[in-house]
Amino acid sequence: MERKIKVTVWNEFRHEKNEPRIKELYPEGIHGALRDALMECGDFEVTTVTLDMPENGLTDDILNNTDVLMWWGHMAHGEVSDKVVEKVRERVLRDGMGFFPIHSGHHSKPFRAILGTTGDLSWGANQQEIVWNILPQHPIAEGIPERFELTEEMYGEPFYIPAPDELVFASWFANGNIFRSGCCYYRGMGKIFYFQPGHEECKSLYNPYVRRIIRNGVRWLAPSDIGRADRGCIHQATSVLDDLKKEKENA
Ligand code: ZN
Repeated sequence: MERKIKVTVWNEFRHEKNEPRIKELYPEGIHGALRDALMECGDFEVTTVTLDMPENGLTDDILNNTDVLMWWGHMAHGEVSDKVVEKVRERVLRDGMGFFPIHSGHHSKPFRAILGTTGDLSWGANQQEIVWNILPQHPIAEGIPERFELTEEMYGEPFYIPAPDELVFASWFANGNIFRSGCCYYRGMGKIFYFQPGHEECKSLYNPYVRRIIRNGVRWLAPSDIGRADRGCIHQATSVLDDLKKEKENA
């Protein structure tokens, strides 16, 4: 039976607690906004967890029941336990769990551990951003126009990441910077998609195109063996194999 994609949304959840203007923007936390973006469609089962929960919210029980792990962190990357980071890395590389760091997740411990780089980048104030859809044939770009605009914190090149296996979005910022804003990777059995919008002072996570990209991203990241195969073809494939076997026997 085809089942829903199990998504765990991990959020640091500190800005929303400590800064009234951020709380006003994200009253249910950034994890709440990410959950709502996913719940606009019926194919996801969403769990939200936060840094201050036991084991940083990522117990074996939760992790082993996660197809795709979304990650929003910024001010407390260092508080995530190395044991948890290693478990996340193993789940991605060995079991094929998808990993989806958003925005400042470029500096998160799991992102650095999985990709093996610093994730450093150039940085600037909030300003106009144009997100360009530069790989419209990609599943993550489905339903996304050639370009759309946001007000975002500036992230610029050089972005110290390995060359993406697939680069779906690239961004222009008003002060002239450019940035690889939607990067796909295949690592071990798993996939990683980094997407840049989502600064806590900005409203990007309410933008319909950003929300669509979040859903597309999770679908692309989900392991391919969770029962979504075109089942109607299994018998055909089996009979083709049987036919070949018979042919061989009769030869
Ligand atoms: Zn930010």
